[in-house]
Amino acid sequence: MTVHPIRLLPDPVLRQRAKRVPEIDASIHRLIGDMIESMYEARGVGLAAPQIGVSLRVIVLGMPEEEPFALINPEIVKRSGQRTVDEGCLSLPGYRGELTRSTLVVAKGLTPAGKQVRIRAKENLLAQALEHEIDHINGTLYIDHLPSLDVLRKMEPEEEGGEPAGEPEPATSAE
Ligand code: ZN
Repeated sequence: MTVHPIRLLPDPVLRQRAKRVPEIDASIHRLIGDMIESMYEARGVGLAAPQIGVSLRVIVLGMPEEEPFALINPEIVKRSGQRTVDEGCLSLPGYRGELTRSTLVVAKGLTPAGKQVRIRAKENLLAQALEHEIDHINGTLYIDHLPSLDVLRKMEPEEEGGEPAGEPEPATSAE
């Protein structure tokens, strides 16, 4: 598996609507392996294929202390409620912002084995990450949900505890 550099704004691949995966073959399995490696290398909790330059509808999620998993052609089938979260993005390092996300998120998609699954996440990091990563494959970034770019906060390295800004972190993360 190969660690790929994370594409950064304003790379146009981040703004494209990614294509559906027509068939889950060895190249998709390789892509997923590379995405998981790249996500951990960058200390993120989620990554979308466009972030390593591949415009396909594939996301990976790796919640702290949990096994990482991939969803192919994911879609949000239900969302409800609103909550304020603090969020960052590996493609826009050094910044964070507060935005509104759903309380409950239900997503469906295919596993690497081609099985259709449904994932329900409520009021947690996974719910936030599902919305964040599925946004990515539609060319949407979290900054698009901010009332204005003026509310973005620039993080100093010491504020981040010497670690790069991850993909969405819970609002309770030490700051
Ligand atoms: Zn992101």
